[in-house]
Amino acid sequence: MITSTDPSGAAGIPLTVPAGIDRAAHHRMDEAWLAAAWSHPTTRVFVVSGGQALIDDTADGRTELVMTPAFEAPVTEKHRYFLGTDEEGVRYFALQKDALPGRIDQSARPAGLREAGALLSARDAALMAHAVALENWQRLHRFCSRCGERTLIAAAGHVRRCPACGAEHYPRTDPAVIMLVTDDRDRALLGRQLHWPAGRFSTLAGFVEPGESIEQAVVREVAEEAGVTVGEVRYVASQPWPFPASLMLGFTARATSARIEVDGEELHEARWFSREELAVAFASGEVLPPSGISIAARLIELWYGKPLPAGVPR
Ligand SMILES: [Zn+2]
Repeated sequence: MITSTDPSGAAGIPLTVPAGIDRAAHHRMDEAWLAAAWSHPTTRVFVVSGGQALIDDTADGRTELVMTPAFEAPVTEKHRYFLGTDEEGVRYFALQKDALPGRIDQSARPAGLREAGALLSARDAALMAHAVALENWQRLHRFCSRCGERTLIAAAGHVRRCPACGAEHYPRTDPAVIMLVTDDRDRALLGRQLHWPAGRFSTLAGFVEPGESIEQAVVREVAEEAGVTVGEVRYVASQPWPFPASLMLGFTARATSARIEVDGEELHEARWFSREELAVAFASGEVLPPSGISIAARLIELWYGKPLPAGVPR
């Protein structure tokens, strides 16, 4: 049962905090408005390709998306995604292309969202997450799931329309639950997946199945992966995770049993850690923390009570 929302759980991760972008969805079908917005001198455009965009370090030590005015980008782009406007009225677009443009200067470099999300401002991280999610969806949904015909892009990247049967297809987002489970001794249950590097432990996670509530998914996944039963489930925060199309829904959950029996398929190993045991394991290098961008790190920190050691992006 969801008992409360803890907004403090969203602090510290660019992908979970307000981004200052109004998606302005009502403009997506308005071709005249989009054309005017595209040619406006303050409009900013970045290229997304294969989940990557160009990022650059600023003189004052920040990292930002490399964006150009629209007039520097081709005008007739089919894969032009309108992403929204900010508080100053600046309009943002992403262009999906087969390759990123040549480096604008020496320091600009291509980066995926796992790396860039931890470096960019909340605004830029949100813009990139939106563009990467649309690109992933466009790439994987070129044909109509109703009749098999090739579909056409519409609504500034947010719809694909079938010319044969008229079906409209919308970007999908797949809900996944990610949960920090604690026991009656306030120890945390962390697991290691088969394909992870040795020592990497994190929270348990899994996809919500059809016909299932997210609370039921938390209970089922913990039981399936670790053999532990949980009672109280508490929602904390969410995070877009467009790899390719997930939304991570973060929870804390209270175990009602302690015996661990990993499934051996998703989880290779799972252990209960006290805060002291985890601190010792971090210090010795026996345990590596999850990637800093991940909501998993934030969930563990909420319980751990302080920032985790810097993780290695994965
Ligand atoms: Zn169709």
